[in-house]
Amino acid sequence: MTTQKNIAFIGLGNMGLPMAINLANAGESVRGFDPQVTDSNSKLPEALTLCSSLDDALLNSDLVITMLPNGHIVLDVLNAIIQGGATPAVVLDCSTIDINHAREAHKVASDAGIDYMDAPVSGGISGAAAGTLTTMIGGDENVLSTLKPRIEPMFKTFIHCGDGGSGQAAKICNNMLLATTMIGTGETFNLGKKLGLDQNTLFSVLSTSTGSCWSVNSYCPVPEVGPNSPADNDYKPGFSVAMMLKDLHLTQAAADSADQATPLGAHALELYEEYANSGATEEDFSGIIRYLADLDRQ
Ligand code: NAD
Repeated sequence: MTTQKNIAFIGLGNMGLPMAINLANAGESVRGFDPQVTDSNSKLPEALTLCSSLDDALLNSDLVITMLPNGHIVLDVLNAIIQGGATPAVVLDCSTIDINHAREAHKVASDAGIDYMDAPVSGGISGAAAGTLTTMIGGDENVLSTLKPRIEPMFKTFIHCGDGGSGQAAKICNNMLLATTMIGTGETFNLGKKLGLDQNTLFSVLSTSTGSCWSVNSYCPVPEVGPNSPADNDYKPGFSVAMMLKDLHLTQAAADSADQATPLGAHALELYEEYANSGATEEDFSGIIRYLADLDRQ
């Protein structure tokens, strides 16, 4: 008789907790650890156990999933797993971190005989809750194939991007483009308004013409225009300005080390920094439309 191994889920924040819940609801035995989460207000599935330490979460776990704030913490947790003597077969890191830390984590894990995948996600808190995240993955494709049936409850789309670190590279490329399209969408609606266009009429044009993009069609930053979005909820995140700034900083650091010019990406970072400094750190990133509306034309 084979006994079911556990999944250790490390980092039960806004993203990690709903992802862990989806795994537990799909029949996995999940042992979660997060020093900030000792008791959850939401009712947890029976198959999700909140643990009081990393070691406790690792008990009888062959797969470790991490969903953590940054690369330093991801590497610290990985080192603690190895130094504690646990031997999971696979560590899947779903956090968004810098490419250098991701590559280092691949090496550290490989030296310890652990398969490691960098697997950052897109889709935000709503995608985490619905189990419809997209994940972009760097690491061994064969390991991914074996792992897929088990981690499917968290994801709708899997894209294997290449070797270690390539998932993180794809993630920051995507978010640089997202920042630039959101700024472009905001300034376009602001100009249309000043030119006397009805915002709904402009949405109809943009969403069906060559200006269409996710920022217009799925996440329109104008209240009561297009599908429901944070603009309809006073720009509560969603995806916060702080999160977008983190990704834009990672993008510019990567562009520096790759010696690649990204003029719009660099300017997007400047604009999001100015917007954040206006007190908007915890607003949704689409709220930049309001900041852009008040800028002086130079
Ligand atoms: P969060 O701050 O809500 O959660 C992170 C959690 O990690 C916290 O609860 C914290 O207590 C925990 N943590 C920190 N150090 C730990 C440790 N040593 N051991 C165990 N737990 C530890 O952040 P989030 O929104 O859940 O984001 C997590 C990651 O996902 C980040 O890398 C973020 O960039 C990325 N991401 C977030 C979103 C989003 O919309 N929120 C979307 C895509 C990707």
